[in-house]
Amino acid sequence: MLSAAEAPLLGRSFDELLTEAVHFHGHLCPGQVLGVRMTLAGCREIGIERPQRAGKRLVVFVEIDRCATDAIQALTGVSVGKRTLKHLDYGKMAATFLNRTTGVGVRVSARDSARALAGAWAPGESDPRAAQILAYRVMSEADLLRIEAVGIRPGWLDRRRVRVFCQGCGEGINYQREVMAEGRALCRPCSGDGYYDRLA
Ligand SMILES: [Zn+2]
Ligand SMILES: [Zn+2]
Repeated sequence: MLSAAEAPLLGRSFDELLTEAVHFHGHLCPGQVLGVRMTLAGCREIGIERPQRAGKRLVVFVEIDRCATDAIQALTGVSVGKRTLKHLDYGKMAATFLNRTTGVGVRVSARDSARALAGAWAPGESDPRAAQILAYRVMSEADLLRIEAVGIRPGWLDRRRVRVFCQGCGEGINYQREVMAEGRALCRPCSGDGYYDRLA
């Protein structure tokens, strides 16, 4: 059996994929190696061999805005603007890969135990970060990742193309993102769920 570093998945070697991820992200880090492994596992499980050519067939939900997310984006070509990349701010190193043609979805998460195992998979490497980079590359998939079949809940993919105006601030709200509060249609900031405060 080929090791992860040799497996010619996505039509390219692990090194080619890692190089592409690093180029997009800006540096080599454990997250890039992890992101490549997550992408390989996710795409394989949902039967998408050429994610860059999958167009809107492939949708990825990422649960963290960290390094690995960049690797997933670089290798799959999903993007926020194409609405094929969905960021959920859960703070978890996990991503769900969905094949929209078949409806098959898998959630791939990094096992918390993998970090502690890194030393064993990178003998002789004293720097923890360097050890993770080496180890995440060769660690068995079962040790590194948890893979679970998931179904996507209604409303997370298809949103009606409607536009209403917030009855608080008057700004337009697309795709049914308004919140009903006391009989008024409000944008999320006006409903109290905003990320900013107006300073003037
Ligand atoms: Zn990084
Ligand atoms: Zn508003």
